[in-house]
Amino acid sequence: MKHFLFISFLLLLVSCKSTPKFMQCDNCDGEGEVIAECDECEGYGYFKCYVCNGYGGHKCGTCSGNGRLRCNLCYGTGRNGQCIHCSGTGYDDSSGFTCIFCDGTGKSECSMCYGRGYNKCYGCNGNGIIECDKCNGYGKLVCQECDGEGKVKVECPDCEGSGRKFF
Ligand SMILES: [Zn+2]
Ligand SMILES: [Zn+2]
Ligand SMILES: [Zn+2]
Ligand SMILES: [Zn+2]
Ligand SMILES: [Zn+2]
Ligand SMILES: [Zn+2]
Repeated sequence: MKHFLFISFLLLLVSCKSTPKFMQCDNCDGEGEVIAECDECEGYGYFKCYVCNGYGGHKCGTCSGNGRLRCNLCYGTGRNGQCIHCSGTGYDDSSGFTCIFCDGTGKSECSMCYGRGYNKCYGCNGNGIIECDKCNGYGKLVCQECDGEGKVKVECPDCEGSGRKFF
């Protein structure tokens, strides 16, 4: 054991003479790497989506952003075909009053739009907006360089990545 310690001591002396002295780099705490702002995204971690310009989607061209389309069956009137309750007269035969089923129009409710006169737009599913495929509606894209962190590890400029400083 003593012998071993002696050798170690000798080795230490030798190494001190043959190699330059160094200390831990204080800039990176000896890690050799430092955290720096991501150049690619300027530290934001995200880019504005270039497909939708950051909006997350675009106005539906089919419905001009309304989310609705005029019913083709009733031309937007909400009524289609003859009212079966009043045979299209608009009046109740027995009482002479306005037919309550067709509200006096003589026509029955449109079966396609349930009397609304419009249907949900098939292009945008009634949203008026078509979600951007590129960013899934977020309007931004994650920076690949920093994985959305906005920061990257770079080689320490003070010690050139060695973690040690010579003096
Ligand atoms: Zn360093
Ligand atoms: Zn987008
Ligand atoms: Zn009727
Ligand atoms: Zn209709
Ligand atoms: Zn639409
Ligand atoms: Zn980045």
